[in-house]
Amino acid sequence: MRAAPFYCPYCGETDLEPNGDEAGGFYCNSCDRRFILAFGGIGEE
Ligand SMILES: [Zn+2]
Repeated sequence: MRAAPFYCPYCGETDLEPNGDEAGGFYCNSCDRRFILAFGGIGEE
């Protein structure tokens, strides 16, 4: 899965860049946080 977030989930800024070896890893230049996005499945749980 390749999808880029538009906003940092922690600070809400848009200064994100891909980070790390793991797919879905991003780094926020604004709040200096690294995070990993993961697909949660389809439909309501
Ligand atoms: Zn941030």
